[in-house]
Amino acid sequence: MTLHLHNIAKTFPGGTQALSPTDLDIAEGEIVSLLGPSGCGKTTLLRIIAGLETADPGAEIRFKGEDITSQPVERRKVGMVFQSYALFPNMSVGANIGYGLKMQKLPRAEIEARVDDVIALCRLEPYRARPISALSGGQRQRVALARAFAPRPRLLLLDEPLSALDAALRVQLRDELALLLRQFGITAIFVTHDQDEAMAIADRVVVMSQGRVAQVGTPEALYRAPETPFVARFIGNAMPLGGTIAGDRLHLRGGVLTLCAAAEGKTAFVRAEDVKIDANGPLAAQVETVTFLGTHYRIALSGASDEPLYCLHQGLYAPKLGETVRLSVAPQSILTLEEEKDAA
Ligand code: ATP
Repeated sequence: MTLHLHNIAKTFPGGTQALSPTDLDIAEGEIVSLLGPSGCGKTTLLRIIAGLETADPGAEIRFKGEDITSQPVERRKVGMVFQSYALFPNMSVGANIGYGLKMQKLPRAEIEARVDDVIALCRLEPYRARPISALSGGQRQRVALARAFAPRPRLLLLDEPLSALDAALRVQLRDELALLLRQFGITAIFVTHDQDEAMAIADRVVVMSQGRVAQVGTPEALYRAPETPFVARFIGNAMPLGGTIAGDRLHLRGGVLTLCAAAEGKTAFVRAEDVKIDANGPLAAQVETVTFLGTHYRIALSGASDEPLYCLHQGLYAPKLGETVRLSVAPQSILTLEEEKDAA
């Protein structure tokens, strides 16, 4: 393991427990995203890894076997990228990228060579001589990333690095960022509250809730096999179906659905993309609203269950408002989960 975190907890003065004891191992070259709602402790965990915050006594942080728990921030050799780019506005792109290397007192030729490399990889050649103040937000963000890559950090920590950008640019840059991190082979930890961003960039996602790790897994594993209602809702917006489970049957107001296995005492969840309009389906529902979203229609349904139910419907035609439709849901698309005691 490249990074080994054991028993990392944080109680702030005044008694706020931002982080309950947390364990996490990250492999060399892995990109891990910390994902969760506001206030769940993502930034606190990242700042502890960076050395900007001290964990409660008993914590252990090892990097490539070396105990860095009490090492000061400058000795950890981690790179950091924050939401605010923290660039020098009057200095050129090239000077900003080379700044950290100059501070490290690398030979001039070496600095030039490394700046050339990252400028090419980050596609910043046309802007090299421009001052930061003459760049767009997206270009500034790329410079901030290039500057973080230039010293070849052992570990790169990114705190919501794309959140200052507009939606279209965010999507473009997140794909570029994923590619760049892999090209540089950098081990990276990336904080975000945006589910799509976490899934698009990370090899593994750490879902956090109320200072705890709710589940760790690949994006596919979290989507297909969430272990708790919180994770099911947070990753892919699973909706509770309500009703009653008897054996492998889910009895709802509008009909009976079949489950993969008996799941008495559990709660059934489904995602809108798995609810199908199907003339032979076992469930009856009324169409409440129809919203056309280009690639699909989003249809709100009533009467199928006691909970609000949505269906994402692809096709040239959508049902009409008020119409009664029949629905089916494949047994493997119904998630049956234990309710949490202290649900987030
Ligand atoms: P966001 O997405 O809003 O940035 P986050 O998941 O990164 O949230 P943290 O910033 O880690 O959350 O905060 C976790 C909890 O710790 C919050 O309740 C926050 O108010 C509290 N907290 C953070 N920093 C401090 C501090 N310096 N002193 C006291 N409490 C703090």
